[in-house]
Amino acid sequence: MTLKVYNTLTRKKEEFVPIEPGKVKMYVCGPTVYNYIHIGNGRPVIFFDVVRRYLESQNYEVNYITNFTDVDDKMIRKAEEMAVSVPELAETFIAAFLEDIQSLGVHDATLNPRVTENIQEIIDFIAALVEKDFAYEARGDVYYRTSKFTDYGKLSKQNLEELQHGIRIEVDERKENPQDFVLWKAAKPGEIYWDSPWGQGRPGWHIECSAMVRKYLGETIDIHGGGQDLTFPHHECEIAQTEAVTGHPMANYWLHNAFLNIDNEKMSKSLGNGILIRDLVKQIKPQVFRFFMLSAHYRNPLNFSDESLKQAANALERIQNAYDNMKHRLATASATGEVEAEITDKLQAISKQFVDKMNDDFNTPDAITAVFDLVAEANLYLQQERVHADAVKLYMEQLEAFDATLGILSQQADELLDEEIEQLIVERTESRKSKNWARADEIRDLLTEKGIFLEDTPQGIRWRRK
Ligand code: AMP
Ligand code: ZN
Repeated sequence: MTLKVYNTLTRKKEEFVPIEPGKVKMYVCGPTVYNYIHIGNGRPVIFFDVVRRYLESQNYEVNYITNFTDVDDKMIRKAEEMAVSVPELAETFIAAFLEDIQSLGVHDATLNPRVTENIQEIIDFIAALVEKDFAYEARGDVYYRTSKFTDYGKLSKQNLEELQHGIRIEVDERKENPQDFVLWKAAKPGEIYWDSPWGQGRPGWHIECSAMVRKYLGETIDIHGGGQDLTFPHHECEIAQTEAVTGHPMANYWLHNAFLNIDNEKMSKSLGNGILIRDLVKQIKPQVFRFFMLSAHYRNPLNFSDESLKQAANALERIQNAYDNMKHRLATASATGEVEAEITDKLQAISKQFVDKMNDDFNTPDAITAVFDLVAEANLYLQQERVHADAVKLYMEQLEAFDATLGILSQQADELLDEEIEQLIVERTESRKSKNWARADEIRDLLTEKGIFLEDTPQGIRWRRK
């Protein structure tokens, strides 16, 4: 089965065909860097990381660009509040953002371009729109002339009339039409500015992505992504800008993730129910949060609660335990000979199941079912007295291959916890009593390998770490 993705532009699942075979050009709108990110922002960050990892696992070379909006009205207001400059504010929150997403195991983007590094490209883009009559200047501002772009509304499936009547847009006498949007904003006294053909000012929000996509990826890209709230107006405006200038589709596939709610409520400033990623990862393992995010399909809303996190933690623990167990048994495996065909056949079927589910519009909850099938098979196998190193390795490699996409396993040194050691010692004593020497030896070897030494004393077995 080939990869199918749900395209917001057509409201259909479509076969994914990249522009260039084996390569994917992908752009995801990044944050405005005026604050720490909250758990809702984590959803696009984690989901598109998984998309990118999955494409790479399928041998695509992925050029993954995600931007930083490092100047806009919110940045200017916040910098004023904090009595710092806009660039200082940006530095602080770009560093914090990168730290936060790294803590979630998100792979680095190919590039994180910033608005302030692309002012000339943005001005050139606006100038091209003015030149083609798709934009007009009004007292130092420049606006996009939506009435001239006949496809305006094609992504969010609204026509201009509906837009005019349906949404309340502030009336601004500088605009020809209320739904026209700003490309360049004249600077007010004291505000950060750049010189332009229209005077001193700064870019509007939407234009940066059109300019950066074209500069870093080209006129048409494969995948453009973001949270569903970006469909309108942000992505609609990006399409209007880019397609007016280039005459080509901006992106072939538009992907949007649904929202994360907290305790079945929208996360909002007024409710004060936001949770920062950096606070969350102090309390739970970041992998649990990733697992939780991937436990729902990205186009379905997801509810964050203590209960749902607990469920995620329990489920993930089963996977992690199986993985740790595989590692332990690998060290002491003793069976020899060929790995049974039954095992390789089962692994192949499970691997296919995972790929089929991911190919079905990145159906991570169903793909995770394949991970549990693998875990169940591996656990059954590991219950045997003697295991084959090559077989254990196959189970491990399969789990690691799944994890290359999901990023949910803990990779830190697998130290044995005190209670795990005690439990192994009890098991060893029982194995000896029942004359299961092979298992008893296996446990002794495992403990030695982990630097745990056993000592027979009149009071029983004592242990110490090296
Ligand atoms: P913002 O902080 O609103 O600029 O959003 C940055 C990114 O996070 C955008 O792609 C939003 O669509 C996304 N986003 C914001 N809030 C949520 C949420 N509660 N659930 C899922 N995505 C969100
Ligand atoms: Zn954007």
